[in-house]
Order: sequence, then C-alpha cells, then structure tokens
Amino acid sequence: MKRLRWIVFILICSGSVIPLLYAQSRSELQLGSMVSQQRLQQTVHDLVKCGNRLGGTKSGDNAAAVLMDRLKSYGFKPEMIADPQKLTYSNDHWHLQIEQPKRLGGLIQHEWLAGYSPSAKQESLRLSFVQSPHDIDEDSIGKGAVLIDQHPSKNLYEKLTDAGARCILSYVAMHSMAYSNWAMISTLNESDKNPVPVFNISNLAGQRLREELGHGTTVSITYSCKTTIVPGKPKTVIATLQGQADEYYIVCAHGDSDSGGPGADDNASGESGVLELARIFKLLMKKNNLPPPKYSIRFILWGSEYFSASSYIKLHEKELKKIRGVINFDEIGIGKTRNCLYFEGNDVPQNDDLLRLFERVGEEFVGKKGFWKESTTNPSQGGTDSYVFLPKYLDYLDVPEVKIPSITVFTAAWNEPKTMRQTRGWSSKAWKGNPDSVTLDYSPYYHSSLDIPVFTTDREPANMIWGVKAVGIALLRLLW
Ligand SMILES: [Zn+2]
Repeated sequence: MKRLRWIVFILICSGSVIPLLYAQSRSELQLGSMVSQQRLQQTVHDLVKCGNRLGGTKSGDNAAAVLMDRLKSYGFKPEMIADPQKLTYSNDHWHLQIEQPKRLGGLIQHEWLAGYSPSAKQESLRLSFVQSPHDIDEDSIGKGAVLIDQHPSKNLYEKLTDAGARCILSYVAMHSMAYSNWAMISTLNESDKNPVPVFNISNLAGQRLREELGHGTTVSITYSCKTTIVPGKPKTVIATLQGQADEYYIVCAHGDSDSGGPGADDNASGESGVLELARIFKLLMKKNNLPPPKYSIRFILWGSEYFSASSYIKLHEKELKKIRGVINFDEIGIGKTRNCLYFEGNDVPQNDDLLRLFERVGEEFVGKKGFWKESTTNPSQGGTDSYVFLPKYLDYLDVPEVKIPSITVFTAAWNEPKTMRQTRGWSSKAWKGNPDSVTLDYSPYYHSSLDIPVFTTDREPANMIWGVKAVGIALLRLLW
C-alpha cells in the first residue's frame, strides 16, 4: 500500500497524472462554456422557417442546404446523401372556416392538414358529427363534411368516404393535457389516391362544434387545399470529425418534422444540438490543441426518420462493426413539468457501458449552474432513430447482427407524462422521484400545429444546452 502511495506521489510530482486529469476537466469546462444558447435557438428558427422539412420535398431539400452551409462554416466538408426514393407530400396551402352560423366564424384556429391529404377546390359543405364507424348514415352525411372526435383509422376513413363524406374534420378528445387550442396532426395512408382531405382541429373547437350540432344548429364550413404528393429522395447530411482509428461514433438526429407540423421541438431542437456539438468540437480541436479523437465522430442529420437510418445501414452493411455507438437526439427543446435530461434505453444490455457513462455525467453535474436539475436513464420507448441500430431492427433489415450501443437523449417524450418501473439497477442519484420508477416528461405541443419555437425551444432553451453539454462531456471522456 505504502509503495502504491509512493508511486502515485512520484507520478504526480513527475507531472504524469495532473496534466491528464487537468486537461480533461479543462476541456469539459471549456466545452460547457462554449455552448451558445443564442445559436441553438437561432438554428431552430432557421430550420422551422424551411417548413416541415419532410425528406424528399422542397422543404426537406432547403433544410438540408441550411445544414450543409452551417457545417461548412464550421470548417467541415459535409456530404449530402440522397436516400432511396419514397412517396412524399407537401401541404402547399389550405383554408378552412366556419361559414354558418356567422357567430362561429373565428372558432377554428391553428388547424393543420393531415399528411397525404389530396388537393381540393374551394367548396361549402354542411357539417355532421359521426361518433364511430357503426354510426355512419349516408343520408345525414349527404355528400357533406364530417366531424369526428378521433384521428381517422384506415377503416373509419374508408367508411366515411364510401358514405359520401367530402371533407373530414378531426379532433382528439382523449387528451386532457394537450391540444386544447391547437391541433394534434395525423397522417393518412401513404398514398396519392386518398379521396378527401382531413383537417386536424383543436379539442375546444371540435367539442364546441359537436355541442352545436347536438343542439340542432346547422353548421356549414368552407374549405380548400392544395397539396403535392410525389416521389422524392430524402437528403441526409453527414459531417465527420476524423479520428485516429477506422471506427466511429454516430451523433445524430432526424431532420424532418415527422408529424408534418412545424416540428421545433421534434426535432429541430435535436438537429440544433448535433450542429452545436459539431461546431464546438471543431473549435475545441483548433483552440485547445486537442489531438484527433481516438475514433471518428460522424454527425448525421437524417433526411427522414427511420427511413434514412435504415438506408444508411443497408449502405454500410459490411462495415457495421466500425460503429462503436450511436447517440441520438430527439426532442431536447422542452419538458413541461420537470427539468430532467433522459438517457434511453437501459433495458438493452449492449447499452450498459455507454449509458453508465451518461449516468455518471448526469450525477456529477446535476444541480450545478448551467446544468440539468435532474437526470436519469430510462427503459426503451421506441419510435426514434437509435432503434434502427438495435438487433430487432437490424434483423428486420436483414443485415448481419452487430451489437451497437445505441441510445437517445431527450427532455420530453410524448404528449402526457408517462410513469413506468425503472429497470433494476438503474436508479440514478440525479433522479428526484421514486427511485424504483421513472416519469418521462412530456410536450403539450407534441406532433401539433403549435410545436413552434415560441412555445418550446424559446421557452425552455436551457434544455438544448443540457443535451449538448451531456453528450459533449461524454464524448470527451470516450474519445480523448
Ligand atoms: Zn422525433
């Protein structure tokens, strides 16, 4: 024991340990101080201005061009990859208003056209309410518009259109914590043959219309819409920070607003996080004389959620072993009720080492000025690009199975809080709730017409900062 102490003493005196630790923590501190809130917010604004950025559309191409420019200005030589073709849509413009009675003229606001709705010329229609597929009466619909209190399933949509409905107004009655004055956005079958458009409207507007119809009021609407449904190739943007070995980590986010809405939180916030990390690492290497990292980092903005990551895997099928890990951002722009940073998913054994590192970072920095107030790992939720790299999906893609740690960092998941049992052995010291469970925070604007900066990323910009700091510090520890 005494000998060990002497060795440590000699190492310290000879200067071998302190500079190493000092250099690392100095880089971490420096990284923390370089994260720019203003830049993170501005990037979200710039991306949201491009529209819904759906892969393969003009809006998606414009957003990819913004990402390319930004990465070039940081000193990268980014590549833009055209993914395979898929059927895409863009909602060019629409109009929907209550015509009669006049007193309800301003009732519908923040409505949104469902994905893959066809174009329709302006017309005025009488509105009726339909409760369920069993409640459809051709005579009462009478080639008019129909109000429903749910998103139309394939079956309901077909039955309504078969019965003569020419336009559908849909609201989601079951959500008490979201969509009161704004619309949850739905997507129809991925087809250019859908016969009639669907307008998603807010809960309050939907309920009011239902009441009026229930009291026998004659309600008529006027509407029109212009959409484009054509094949297109999503554009994925990749920038590489070259490492010493021929292996790499992926830091990524989906670049489209998969709901078809403005998508500030989901997922311009994540894209902004990836860009900010790319900028900082490039600058840190320049300013701080950091050597090239042990492994490369590929910063990737997927043109289309799931679709582009799947195509990337197919393209790199023979060299998947080179991917040492995937760190995905999805929704780091708001967390309605907590100030928590989540690292998912701790129920996947191959994620153990990577998530332990994130958990340590979470615990070390929790409560410090400029950092998160809570953090935790959580069980798998699915539904985002990190899952494309896990065995189940690799199997689905029919590529050789490789064990790639693949995690997602976020501050909100769905449209209401969700509490679940914590995975055994994963209670975090940085979690303030019951140690045996974990509650995922939510966004009231999830997949909605008002997922715009003023309600999400401008309201809680600290969330993006936390995401960038946690991933940045973890990468410094992994790669330098
Ligand atoms: Zn998302």
